[in-house]
Amino acid sequence: MEKIALVTGASRGIGKATALALARDGWTVHVNYIRSREAAEAVAAQTGGMAICADVSDGQAVSAMFEKIGPLDLLVNNAGVAVYGLLTDLDPAVWQRLFDVNVTGMYNCCRCAIPPMVHVKAGHIINLASILGTNGASCEVAYSATKGAVVAFTKALAKELGPSGIRVNCVAPGCIDTDMIANLSPEDKAELADSTSLCRMGTAEDVADAITLLASERARFVTGQVFGVDGGLLI
Ligand code: NAP
Repeated sequence: MEKIALVTGASRGIGKATALALARDGWTVHVNYIRSREAAEAVAAQTGGMAICADVSDGQAVSAMFEKIGPLDLLVNNAGVAVYGLLTDLDPAVWQRLFDVNVTGMYNCCRCAIPPMVHVKAGHIINLASILGTNGASCEVAYSATKGAVVAFTKALAKELGPSGIRVNCVAPGCIDTDMIANLSPEDKAELADSTSLCRMGTAEDVADAITLLASERARFVTGQVFGVDGGLLI
């Protein structure tokens, strides 16, 4: 039977790698994006799904996206934004935008995805947290706070939806070499690589493979977990 997934923010980085890895595992994957239309369409051409433009922070746009795609077996809430700087220098609008995308975006997608999953008593939601969601980082207070919210949201929703046969987990990547950390210097990246037990930065594919494992039947008794994918940065 066809298995249908939506990965938000799947035009690049971890979302793109996840959509492609799920497709290799037999999933039909819809590809959400906000700006990168051509890139998203190129991914969707390989995953059998639609490329759909929607700002996940916009509840109406998300509802319209779900009307197009219909019921899902798997939702991966991956779309996210980050900002670097002292908390006291942070523009309140930027603080708000981080919460709108990273937290409200996840809520907007879940509230559309869950009712059909409850109806069939099956389904799975995987959220993108971060090691900063549990440990925090200097100059990333707002981002860390949004990812802490992702962790708490995941655990609470897993308890709420478990009786309906729906699993909810999150992955907590460490430092993954994507556009999101393009602002780091080569020296910063080398230092971060050194601080992992495996002595390297992660790749988008490292995270994608962990997500496909969680999404598979092999993880059928796993819910409410924060699955670290950080090369042993946090041990
Ligand atoms: P990325 O390379 O910057 O890609 C971000 C993706 O999100 C793009 O596809 C972008 O679409 C999409 N996006 C951004 N805002 C959106 C919105 N409002 N609505 C819909 N889509 C939106 O990021 P990444 O490094 O792959 O990160 C993916 C997730 O992993 C994020 O949740 C991030 O917080 C988390 N994470 C990343 C790292 C890391 O080190 N990279 C570590 C821990 C956690 P467009 O291409 O259309 O702009």
